[in-house]
Amino acid sequence: MKGLVYEGCGKKAWKSVPMPTIQSSTDAIVKLTATSICGTDLHILKGEILRVTPGRILGHEGVGLIQSVGDAVSNFRSGDRVLISCITSCGKCLYCSRNLQGHCLNGGWQLGNEIDGTQAQYVRIPYADTSLYAAPKALKDDQLLLLSDDLPTGFEIGVRSAKIAPGETVAVVGAGPVGLAVLITAQFYSPASIIMIDRDDSRLAVAEDLGATMTINPTKLTMNSVLDEIMKAINADSEGSDTVSTNQAPKPGVDVAIECVGAPQTFDTCQKIIAPGGRIANIGVHGKSVDLQLQDLWSKNITITTGLVSANTTSMLLKLLQSGKMKPDQLIPHRLKLSQIERAYDTFGNPSKEHAIKMYIETDN
Ligand code: NAD
Ligand code: ZN
Repeated sequence: MKGLVYEGCGKKAWKSVPMPTIQSSTDAIVKLTATSICGTDLHILKGEILRVTPGRILGHEGVGLIQSVGDAVSNFRSGDRVLISCITSCGKCLYCSRNLQGHCLNGGWQLGNEIDGTQAQYVRIPYADTSLYAAPKALKDDQLLLLSDDLPTGFEIGVRSAKIAPGETVAVVGAGPVGLAVLITAQFYSPASIIMIDRDDSRLAVAEDLGATMTINPTKLTMNSVLDEIMKAINADSEGSDTVSTNQAPKPGVDVAIECVGAPQTFDTCQKIIAPGGRIANIGVHGKSVDLQLQDLWSKNITITTGLVSANTTSMLLKLLQSGKMKPDQLIPHRLKLSQIERAYDTFGNPSKEHAIKMYIETDN
């Protein structure tokens, strides 16, 4: 079979690799029908996440058909259509019992990281019973792909960690698939405004379609003007509301800032725009250290949360997708074949060139 192999910083190759085989009775082998690329794969390729060893097949998102299962797998059998979670969990260890499946003592974020991943024709999934989900017939592969990682990540590490409450002002820095997943799921909590910040106008246009109150492209502005724009947006918001007295002091920042890029300057933006008592939820994977303005954060009583997704809300998000209450279809206009995956990386990594958001990579046959 063929797979996309990480060959060291900046290098990848679509090449022949051995077929995966069942190694444990809890494994399943899945024949991929669709896979995708995550911003984390871009970090790996840039050498910003050093744990990944050359020779590893990349990818942690996918949908496919079960090819074979080990003797201890009871929820699935050959031929079943399944969604693959980016997190492998045994369902029994200390961290699984604490609902921190991302830190499963027997799994965690393994696919495309510690073991071969999903950007291939076949993949081995450990602990298949607790790491795969039955794919509802009504949902197409491209809709399901967002549930492997982006939607659970945006919801768990962004929206839920930041405890977004009705009426609050929210800024999301980064409008890639993860930032847009935050935008989609944040709306379930009725914030007064969601301001999306990204340097790519085509992604901001999609954010507007998906319900962003305001979009800002910081490349055209100084940091001070970004702050001015945000202050204008959140204060225009309260002026329009008859529950706020007109002589109330202007809001000094947003209640919630969610970092969805993984760069020191975007984390810094979050620190600058957050109001006293606010919450910063960091989702981005930071290969480089960030400049933590602890004194500033202390003086403003800011809570910072961060972490790896546990993907323990996947079943619930699957139901929302089925119910039609969540329509992330605009995220997936780009469709390519698996044999074109190297081109898909170029497209995803340069969003302004082809206006790509989420790549839908189908298998060739
Ligand atoms: P992506 O690369 O598609 O999106 C990043 C976006 O940030 C792009 O739209 C880009 O234009 C924008 N951007 C880059 N620099 C910017 C800047 N200086 N100012 C404003 N915008 C800027 O990636 P993605 O798939 O959406 O993932 C986003 C982040 O989330 C990545 O860091 C990824 O590693 C991380 N991630 C974390 C988890 C987790 O478990 N915490 C899971 C998945 C992804
Ligand atoms: Zn990911």
